[in-house]
Amino acid sequence: MTRFSDLALSPKILEAVEAAGYETPTPIQSGAIPPALERRDVLGIAQTGTGKTASFTLPMIHMLASGRARARMPRSLVLCPTRELAAQVAEDFDTYSRNIKLSKALLIGGVSFKEQDALIDRGVDVLIATPGRLLDHFERGKLLLTGIEIMVVDEADRMLDMGFIPDIERIFSLTPFTRQTLFFSATMAPEIERITNLFLSNPARVEVARPATASETIAQEVVRLKPSRRDRAAKEKRGLLRAIIEREGEGCRNAIVFCNRKTDVDIVAKSLQKHGFDAAPIHGDLDQPQRTRTLDKFRDGDLKFLVASDVAARGLDIPRVSHVLNFDVPSNAEDYVHRIGRTGRAGREGKAVMISLPADEKLLGAIEKLIAKDIPRVECPMQAATRGSETKGSEQPKRTRVRKKPQTSSLEPVARRSGRTVGMGDHLPSFIAMSFKERAAV
Ligand code: AMP
Repeated sequence: MTRFSDLALSPKILEAVEAAGYETPTPIQSGAIPPALERRDVLGIAQTGTGKTASFTLPMIHMLASGRARARMPRSLVLCPTRELAAQVAEDFDTYSRNIKLSKALLIGGVSFKEQDALIDRGVDVLIATPGRLLDHFERGKLLLTGIEIMVVDEADRMLDMGFIPDIERIFSLTPFTRQTLFFSATMAPEIERITNLFLSNPARVEVARPATASETIAQEVVRLKPSRRDRAAKEKRGLLRAIIEREGEGCRNAIVFCNRKTDVDIVAKSLQKHGFDAAPIHGDLDQPQRTRTLDKFRDGDLKFLVASDVAARGLDIPRVSHVLNFDVPSNAEDYVHRIGRTGRAGREGKAVMISLPADEKLLGAIEKLIAKDIPRVECPMQAATRGSETKGSEQPKRTRVRKKPQTSSLEPVARRSGRTVGMGDHLPSFIAMSFKERAAV
């Protein structure tokens, strides 16, 4: 087995890697670092969760530390599809370069140009940027890319999804053709293949298994919901989401709730808050300071439920996410893999629960095909409870039970355990015993 010390990285970098707690390189690291250090182009086919960030930041730091800076010209560039991912790469860069003096600038939207201009003017070794913001700087005449020696493209498949490929091509053409390119993508769509053929020169191709096939530590489940009426589906899904959270109990320490649409991210976050859960939304329409604040709170354990869209959560590295709750079945099977990869990281246990409507069966099939595994169906906690109360032949009419004043005191411990105030979810036993019509009135 390869060790980090076999990888010809400088001792200062090895110390930083050790301080980060890594013992052995992951397959993408042991595959990509040696050719990168030999100054070869690298085509890494790997997705988030495989350790790919270190597979390009470590050789970059090594090469920047051993080279010499040309005044005021950035020497390296990392392009990321989203602000969050760029911020994450910047953080990792700081971790691994802690013993080496290198300067960096993070160029992402939502931060003032003035601050970023000042950094660029001072001269930086590394630019970490989203494509749009980088080109904005270039067009304002504030940035020259002719000193770029190493260029990294991270998550190219996501760049493609987001329509960034023309920007990437333009950026490639603004950098010297002598640059070294480290290019990462989870998949090799024809369009990705085309630009790698165009801009990479005899790359070392390193391909690693999807983490989804390796993520044996993630327990997966699908809860099917048959809505009483089509126009009630969203509301009933929100009720089911709360029922799932309650069912998971104390084990649900923190969770990312994924929705397919931004509008639903807001609605679900508001609904959870209304019912006493500690939740906040994150999606591309929120301003950057707000997104950063929410993420920091979640990362620090001060926020329990992060309600997110796929783009906003892409590539986030939050080590201790206990649950991924899929409010919607993603329309793209690959997104399922990315979503559940937020939990069960670095060998920890995680749980992924997905709500599915009858109309989602086809999508579900595509996901199961992709992960080459059947996801167990579990009974809808609401419907199970409803049936339970019926078979026991409860003499008390359901409506009466619902209307009974809630026994707040007996429910408080549940709420306290979940770290929140008593809310609707605490009255779940009554709620789940209601008919769908009654539920709708709550
Ligand atoms: P990435 O694929 O870059 O998003 O990394 C996924 C996770 O693996 C992050 O939490 C990293 O901190 C962690 N990681 C990266 N390299 C290693 C390693 N060699 N050993 C253990 N964990 C690692």
